[in-house]
Amino acid sequence: MTIATRFPPSPTGDLHIGSVRTALYNYLFARQQEGRFVFRLEDTDRERSTEQAVQNILAGMNWLGLDYDEGPHYQTARFARYEEKIAELKHSGHAYKCYCTKQRLDSLRDEQVASQLTPKYDGHCRGSQENNHDKSGSFVMRLKTPLDGHVIVRDEIRGDVKIENSQLDDLIIARSDGTPTYHLTVVVDDIDMEISHVIRGDDHLSNTARQIHIINALNAQIPVYAHIPMINGTDGKRLSKRHGAVSVLEYRENGILPEALLNYLARLGWSHGDQEIFSMDEMRELFSLSAVNKSAAAFDPDKLLWVNQQYIQSMEIDRLASYAAPFFLARGLDIEAREKFVAVVDAQRTRVKDLMEMADKSAPFFGKFSGHEESAVKKHLRGVVAEPLQALRERLSELEDWSPNKLQAIVEQVAEERELKLGKIAQPLRVAVTGGSASPGIEVTLWLVGREQCLERLDIALQLIRDRVSSA
Ligand code: GLU
Repeated sequence: MTIATRFPPSPTGDLHIGSVRTALYNYLFARQQEGRFVFRLEDTDRERSTEQAVQNILAGMNWLGLDYDEGPHYQTARFARYEEKIAELKHSGHAYKCYCTKQRLDSLRDEQVASQLTPKYDGHCRGSQENNHDKSGSFVMRLKTPLDGHVIVRDEIRGDVKIENSQLDDLIIARSDGTPTYHLTVVVDDIDMEISHVIRGDDHLSNTARQIHIINALNAQIPVYAHIPMINGTDGKRLSKRHGAVSVLEYRENGILPEALLNYLARLGWSHGDQEIFSMDEMRELFSLSAVNKSAAAFDPDKLLWVNQQYIQSMEIDRLASYAAPFFLARGLDIEAREKFVAVVDAQRTRVKDLMEMADKSAPFFGKFSGHEESAVKKHLRGVVAEPLQALRERLSELEDWSPNKLQAIVEQVAEERELKLGKIAQPLRVAVTGGSASPGIEVTLWLVGREQCLERLDIALQLIRDRVSSA
């Protein structure tokens, strides 16, 4: 069997991280099996589908690097094909016209609910189609679902799932305006696109039973199914905006690396021993549907940040710099001098969890100084450090070779001469030249801030100390 999987989002909103996990599992499985990965936009719901959502989904797929072999196919371009298949079902006696009015269906539903029955269509128009000939008005097309027996969904994750046909009703395959419904389009497309494996959320399980009836009616091959458990928030409720960002592009904006997001999502519901970090190649090799968890997974934003941090620390530096660049530019930092920019990224990579934080913390290295933080001043810029800071200022102004080694030597010297621990000097100096109390190693910090800015900020800091001392 040639393996083919698909990712068929409906462009009615942003690309949701839950959908991305589904896309990823389909992608990994197809790549591993050397099959095809098909991308399809299920845009037949014209009222809810928007071009903006299409663009958002395409941008998300592109950012994540989930490349597909086929598509995007747009369902709206395939209406003629669906009409053909609806007609085929009608001719073979598997579908019938239903003229029931909304009023009739509403009161049927009310009665069923009142008698504590599961609401379902009662097959009123199912009988002889001849009886329907004299009927006029609008009609929908329904599939004749077997009245008894059951369907078995053979599921790679859950095993066999049995669903009684009595629980299913005659589902609508074409609306009164003739347009096909989701169940029909998804089945026709999966058949035409020769999809061998349908991997999707387990909220689709009962849809699968219905769709198997359409597939059977069309005399086609039933694909292998794998229903993935849902993603919940850490409170056990289904993941939604209440839990924070759910749109993939929001994660991009928040400084998450695509590799990290994919790694995190792969592990959310699938595991391989205790391993947490997987390269794309490893995931492709190790992923297996049978190792997907059977119960819902909990999305934990802190864990995602941790994974992101691991990637920031270990990613090839040029690649990391190119992901980081837009964040620096958005903050008005001049990163023209490439070597310096890369050095800043490298100096910060062990200190941050995301690229926003990296860019925010890097402003002092690009001439952006927003003053000395009050708490840092109080703690570190006290009278006792005036003299050593003054001494440092002098030596720094005279230093010829502004390199981390030489800078380190000066700071050590000033500390030794005064029999002070290095930190007693380095920390006030850090506050003086960056404004805050956290930055990379002092020699790298001084080097990256640059001589001119270091001296200028030291002067401001020395003045602050004098002011504090005189007002004390
Ligand atoms: N368009 C459907 C959705 O977004 C696809 C479901 C399926 O995988 O069949 O839920």
